Amino acid sequence: MMAALETTDPVANLREVRGLIARAAADCGRDPADVRLVCVTKTVPPERIRPVIAAGERIFGENRVQEAHGKWPALKADHPGLQLHLIGPLQTNKAREAVALFDVIETLDRPSLAKVLAQEIQRAGRTPKLFVQVNTGAEPQKAGVLPQDADAFIAQCRSEYGLEPVGLMCIPPIGEQASPHFALLNKIAARNGLTELSMGMSADYELAIQLGATYVRIGSAIFGERG
Ligand SMILES: *Cc1c(COP(=O)(O)O)cnc(C)c1O
Repeated sequence: MMAALETTDPVANLREVRGLIARAAADCGRDPADVRLVCVTKTVPPERIRPVIAAGERIFGENRVQEAHGKWPALKADHPGLQLHLIGPLQTNKAREAVALFDVIETLDRPSLAKVLAQEIQRAGRTPKLFVQVNTGAEPQKAGVLPQDADAFIAQCRSEYGLEPVGLMCIPPIGEQASPHFALLNKIAARNGLTELSMGMSADYELAIQLGATYVRIGSAIFGERG
């Protein structure tokens, strides 16, 4: 697999991944500074995260509110500049906790969640950046608004709930070519005036960068395969 160059040292892997991100951006004429790395730390214990923070990484992603709640308040207290992204599905009954903990919520995907997030943002006086997740492969088991419903949902977020999403996020179906999904996400973002694209994981982030990613979400290429 892509593990050929991988070491067991997350900091060494991080440096390599950062280099590959910069090269992929430069190769397609993009400014490497326009592509940000979200270092995905789900299942990774704090003692393996701390060296990565010490090496300068500031943006992290978790897919479960509960797990993030157990790990990140202490890390954030020690490092005030950290930015934490929620990249997994969000239940409405966890919205309050998510608004309090996360700086970016990438998985806004339905009106009921938009409504509760708007309420919690108002209540907390804290406004995480929001991405709308699009289920580009229309997979029944996967979260995300369907591509054909995305324009209307984004408009509804703005007009009905007063939310201003900054971008879109997708997770292409496993085992399919990712490029049509990345291209579709880019197209939906462009026609809705959204500038941020969260797409690309360990196996396909260079391709995602070619297709316009502004955030790539990378876990296993840094921390190794999850057990
Ligand atoms: C786990 C996860 C990632 C990172 O996947 P890797 O293949 O380990 O890089 C990215 N995005 C989401 C939504 C994830 O759940």
